[in-house]
Amino acid sequence: MSEEFLPFSRPTISRAAIDDVVACLESGWITTGPRVAQFTEALQTYLGAPYVLPLANATAGLHLTLLALNLQPGDEVITTPMTFAATLNTIILAGAKPVLVDIDPTTYNMDLNLLEEAITEKTRVIMPVHFAGLPVDLDQLYEIADRHRLRVIEDAAHAIGAEYKGKRIGSMGDIQVFSFHPNKNMTTGEGGCVVTRDAGLAKQVGLLRFHGIDREAWNRYGKSGKQDYEVVLPGFKYNMMDIQGAIGLHQLRELDSFNARRAELANRYQEALADWPQWTLPEQPDYDHKHVWHIYTPLLNPDVAHMDREEFMTAMKEKNIGTGLHYRAAHLYPYYRENFGFKLGDFPHAESVSDRIVSLPLFPLMTDAEHDRVLDVMYSIFK
Ligand SMILES: *Cc1c(COP(=O)(O)O)cnc(C)c1O
Repeated sequence: MSEEFLPFSRPTISRAAIDDVVACLESGWITTGPRVAQFTEALQTYLGAPYVLPLANATAGLHLTLLALNLQPGDEVITTPMTFAATLNTIILAGAKPVLVDIDPTTYNMDLNLLEEAITEKTRVIMPVHFAGLPVDLDQLYEIADRHRLRVIEDAAHAIGAEYKGKRIGSMGDIQVFSFHPNKNMTTGEGGCVVTRDAGLAKQVGLLRFHGIDREAWNRYGKSGKQDYEVVLPGFKYNMMDIQGAIGLHQLRELDSFNARRAELANRYQEALADWPQWTLPEQPDYDHKHVWHIYTPLLNPDVAHMDREEFMTAMKEKNIGTGLHYRAAHLYPYYRENFGFKLGDFPHAESVSDRIVSLPLFPLMTDAEHDRVLDVMYSIFK
């Protein structure tokens, strides 16, 4: 019996979004313009944030915020080993040194109880990740950051729509960076944004985003705009296009319903797998929060399952079910080992999770029948 391949993630693109992309293409204005301006306002309203800067992707957002903070060689940025390469790479590209703090093995978020030990006189920024859309304990994080006078960049790539103590991620704190990659909770194709309440930082990121030019293309060439501008620094080309903005406007309207379906499916896994000895399930902390389940990532217990994670992923693929790996512990990749002296044993919780974690299929369009199929196939694989 051959059933259709079920991917571990798939974006939901409405007919209205497709129609608006076509309208954008036909309008004669494809790059940064009125649709990105509208998307910016919609994000400001949704997030309750004064400064939102849409960008080509979230990696650009991490890069530009770190550059805007003017890090000097030798400065240290603290982050987690349980993240995507972009988090560490941008720290290095901004000229700083990544310093890692091990994770809590039950939530996979940075263990904030270990954070203070990692702070030195060189530390400038703390860059936690809201793993899978589960907010880190922001009260504890900012208490430590404020006491040591450190900036915070929340890598919120997984966390749009998530809440901490009744407030949306992005509505408070220092700086947040969201991703709109196709696998994330909402998409613009590629895309991302920086969010802050710091006017100076927003201005600097705005300049770095577009050639160091202090006005965007629409203002310069639009009906009302003047054509002259100043270049005040050597900037990048990290602006978001209107084609992306068109998709984003529609995605943002649907985001809460996407996240509600994600939570439903994740809870369905949590209930169905609760009695399976082959799995150790992700846990949630006691503080009040809303988890947006960007991914559903249990840990495989290889001794009980009689197979390792790679064998499990291969067996699922043979049954036409996709799985993902988010993430292998970053400190064990060759570049970081060789340049920053990380080694096996440095972060035991991250390493144990890294060996056993797997992302099961989870996306808003996934049906209950498809969910049941995943469970049935896993049952047959373990039997
Ligand atoms: C996806 C992701 C990024 C990068 O996002 P892009 O929009 O693809 O650049 C950064 N950090 C984490 C934790 C991510 O999952």
